[in-house]
Amino acid sequence: MSAEPPVKSIVIAGGGTAGWMAAAALSRMLDTSQVKITLVESEAIGTVGVGEATIPNIATFNKMLGIEEREFMAATNATIKYGIEFAGWTKETESYFHPFGTHGRDMMGMSFHQFWRKMHALGKAERLENYCATAMAAKQGKACLPSRDPKSLMSTLSHAYQFDAGLYAAYLRKFSERNGAVRMEGKITDVDVDSESGFIKTLHMDNGESLSGDFFIDCTGFRALLSEKVMGTPFRDWSHWLPCDSALAVGSEKQTDTPPYTRATARQAGWQWQIPLQHRTGNGHVYCSSYLSDEKAGETLLHTLETSPLGAPKQLRFKTGQRERMWTKNCLALGLSGGFLEPLESTSIYLIQAGISRLLALFPDSGFNTTEIDEYNRLMDMEFAQVRDFLILHYVANERHGEPFWDYVRNMSVPDSLTRKIELFKSRGRFFRYEGDLFTETSWVAVFLGQNVLPQSYNAIVDGMPERDIDAALNAIKSELDRDIPHMPSHEEFLSRYCPSKMAI
Ligand SMILES: Cc1cc2nc3c(=O)[nH]c(=O)nc-3n(C[C@H](O)[C@H](O)[C@H](O)COP(=O)(O)OP(=O)(O)OC[C@H]3O[C@@H](n4cnc5c(N)ncnc54)[C@H](O)[C@@H]3O)c2cc1C
Repeated sequence: MSAEPPVKSIVIAGGGTAGWMAAAALSRMLDTSQVKITLVESEAIGTVGVGEATIPNIATFNKMLGIEEREFMAATNATIKYGIEFAGWTKETESYFHPFGTHGRDMMGMSFHQFWRKMHALGKAERLENYCATAMAAKQGKACLPSRDPKSLMSTLSHAYQFDAGLYAAYLRKFSERNGAVRMEGKITDVDVDSESGFIKTLHMDNGESLSGDFFIDCTGFRALLSEKVMGTPFRDWSHWLPCDSALAVGSEKQTDTPPYTRATARQAGWQWQIPLQHRTGNGHVYCSSYLSDEKAGETLLHTLETSPLGAPKQLRFKTGQRERMWTKNCLALGLSGGFLEPLESTSIYLIQAGISRLLALFPDSGFNTTEIDEYNRLMDMEFAQVRDFLILHYVANERHGEPFWDYVRNMSVPDSLTRKIELFKSRGRFFRYEGDLFTETSWVAVFLGQNVLPQSYNAIVDGMPERDIDAALNAIKSELDRDIPHMPSHEEFLSRYCPSKMAI
């Protein structure tokens, strides 16, 4: 039994992806006749307007909300995302694929890549990604739902989505309002804080309205209006490890054959994304302003677009890192107000989702128990740190010698937690996923190998299986994929049958 009265009123400041994801989850999980949920946002300020590629975990969020995939994809003009193609991260002309799903089939309880490593050294295996159903489907521009037959490699297909960020927020807004959340328009100009407790009491808007609450969720984006400006929570700066600090984003016309994946192409001082949607293509150039001017970055972006631009590029500035405490007193920072790790692996929306599920697990009463708040902050620190390490790996393991930005990131010192992972993998290709780690062994192995971090050897247990049996197993996987992938519908066909955007109207 709680000694403190329950939270009766939640105020969400900001209506971007973070604000509406929070409103959607809270309005679904709480009884809105008992707990008032109000979101205030400013049309004049608008949202960051990017954030269109996701990772498969978003399906868990949708399931929690009871959202049906087809309806959601149609409403947000979404496409299937099977992973990310990284072009030019080692040598200018090389590329690799980071797939969702798994590589091949594990054998004798041992990861597939261990067997592959042995056969590859003997010249008897193709690239690892050629044994992955998800990667092969992506490369051939195919898409379908995974098979329910666990014996089929087609059951290992795994996807996320690429969607229109504006449509996603609008979709979640409708969902939240249906569930009893209330939206207010207004620009927050003043905040009352209790002089004794330091708790936030009331937000005041430029239109003369005000909004009081028990619990405040700061979703005001990079402005971090409540967590930084009011609560004064410092920012943990990680830009020495992830030095990109700028981006230019522009939409372009839809591609003819919409690829079922995101592309991240390394550039002179950063990289460029290409995110295919049903109605247009999202593009952006992420770069480090100490190594590249905005003008040059813009020229590169516009000269390398595959389809005609739909407007002028929008400039964005950011600092990589996280707030030292996501939750302070009765104020929780969610989304960009809580931190930002650059979008290379499309992890920001996931981090919002992680923040929401931790909040639900540690939902407060009006006593705001400090042990519970500390636990929330500890869990979110772990989430951010392991995503940070995964991102750094892409930079530190580059082979773009002679380019100042790439020389810097290749030679920088990295967190010990990442050094340990790299050394362990370099020895015999081993990787261990710890509690709370987001990325799977498939992801780490794909990026290690893709970035030419090669294991010297393999786990000696592999030698317990006769070489001819390993050879036969690898060939069987290849044959199965060569047989089944061509029969999948093209991504375009799949979208037009499964979730055409007109379905949502
Ligand atoms: C270049 C770039 C690319 C990205 N790509 C990806 C990606 O591919 N995948 C991914 O997962 N994430 C990506 N992200 C991150 C993603 O965009 C964000 O995590 C996501 O959009 C959430 O943003 P937000 O809601 O926190 O902030 P915002 O979208 O900025 O929303 C802030 C809200 O607060 C309101 N607000 C601010 N100040 C006030 C005020 N004073 N009064 C009232 N309202 C106010 C605004 O009006 C707005 O509604 C990217 C980010 C950047 C910068």
